Amino acid sequence: MQTDFMSSGQSWYETGIAAPPECPALAGEHRCDVVVVGGGFTGLSAAFHLAAAGVGVVVLEERRFGAGASGRNGGQLGTGQRQWVEELEKTYGFERAKALFDLAESAKPYFMDFARTAGIDMEYRSGQMSLVHKPRLLDSYRRHVDAMRRYGYEHLHFMEHDETAARLGSKRYFGGLRDMGTGHIHPLKLVLGTARAADEAGAKLYENTRVVSIEGEEGAIRVKTAHGAVTATRALIATNGYGGALEPMSAARVLPIRSFIGATEPLAADSAILRGGEAVDDSRFVVRYFRKSADNRLLFGGSEAYGHGAADMEAPLRKQMLEIYPELENIRFTHIWGGTLGITVQRLPFVRDVRRGVTFCGGYSGHGVLLSHFFGRLYAEALSGRPDRLAVMKELKISRFPGGILRSSLLFAAMHWFALRDRF
Ligand SMILES: Cc1cc2nc3c(=O)[nH]c(=O)nc-3n(C[C@H](O)[C@H](O)[C@H](O)COP(=O)(O)OP(=O)(O)OC[C@H]3O[C@@H](n4cnc5c(N)ncnc54)[C@H](O)[C@@H]3O)c2cc1C
Repeated sequence: MQTDFMSSGQSWYETGIAAPPECPALAGEHRCDVVVVGGGFTGLSAAFHLAAAGVGVVVLEERRFGAGASGRNGGQLGTGQRQWVEELEKTYGFERAKALFDLAESAKPYFMDFARTAGIDMEYRSGQMSLVHKPRLLDSYRRHVDAMRRYGYEHLHFMEHDETAARLGSKRYFGGLRDMGTGHIHPLKLVLGTARAADEAGAKLYENTRVVSIEGEEGAIRVKTAHGAVTATRALIATNGYGGALEPMSAARVLPIRSFIGATEPLAADSAILRGGEAVDDSRFVVRYFRKSADNRLLFGGSEAYGHGAADMEAPLRKQMLEIYPELENIRFTHIWGGTLGITVQRLPFVRDVRRGVTFCGGYSGHGVLLSHFFGRLYAEALSGRPDRLAVMKELKISRFPGGILRSSLLFAAMHWFALRDRF
């Protein structure tokens, strides 16, 4: 299996996975009920659920399934929305904040049930720790446990410094939260398993097929590719951080940023690092995230602020990892890879009918492992005449990023600024 693209490096996830048969590229004229652009969690999940409900669906993927963020990410599910409930409540009040939190939480049982029913071993392991890199943040983390109880969430526990150090195998962080109501997965296994399930349910899947334009409205949507076209009643744009200028409303609101992960050689069996098997993220704006793989490697993810190719990332990732685990000095990274995610100003997903019959679903802002697969399912559900549970997301105001064509450069500068602020 080779999903390597844009010099982002082959991921450790690709090793040991049998290459799935390549789907054909689209050629000629086709018709269907729903055309899905993008073959990651969002698009493939929507395709599976639509096809299973008897809807005629075509998926068009520019590269291979799993070549986008869904096959290359940190695998951490997290809890609720990306924004903490305290922030949500300040903006939307308790009722709406609770609706947003509950919607995201209902992704968890869905997720486990989907994988079980589809026979996908996504290597789920429970436990996630969110750690504090500056003492002044400790109080807000402590208070977060109580805030979450008000939302009915009982799986969080505040850890003082000693417990944090014991579980982490490092004294580097000042304290943090341990969440046993969530966990982490092997993301590529989930994407490929979802593609297989969609195929078996009757979805028509195409790879190496870049969509160049989407025209028309409900009932007569025409999606063009280099060598063909699909005419459909509806379209789902599931391109997240990779969509470029394909659709202007989402392009103005979903900003692509790069993130990178390094996989070490397997650690010693008696290593003190993350003995409980939890995944970790931290309180930095430019977040660091890491966990151990099933074969005892450290998968260490970090900064989006530097470089564009995986090769540029070895030194900064290594430096960040050694700050936490200096004893890994002589351990090599065997794989380094990157991917692109889509973020929004509000750090909440952008879900919108961008025109009649054309829906965009993305901008998960680093929280898409839990949400994107579920949102694909909710999109399919609403089309099958069930209540539109995504309505609460569609109502959210998601601002445009300032800066026009300069916005990527501005963000790059801003990320440097935040990385510096995280340090000092
Ligand atoms: C390195 C990294 C680490 C991450 N870690 C985490 C994490 O630990 N936890 C978490 O919750 N989230 C994480 N994320 C984010 C998460 O992976 C995404 O939110 C999620 O996978 C989005 O899924 P998606 O299907 O919407 O988009 P993607 O998986 O990105 O899929 C979009 C697809 O659209 C295709 N496409 C784009 N344009 C076109 C076109 N014109 N024609 C046809 N196809 C097109 C792309 O090739 C791509 O395959 C991470 C992301 C990265 C990159």
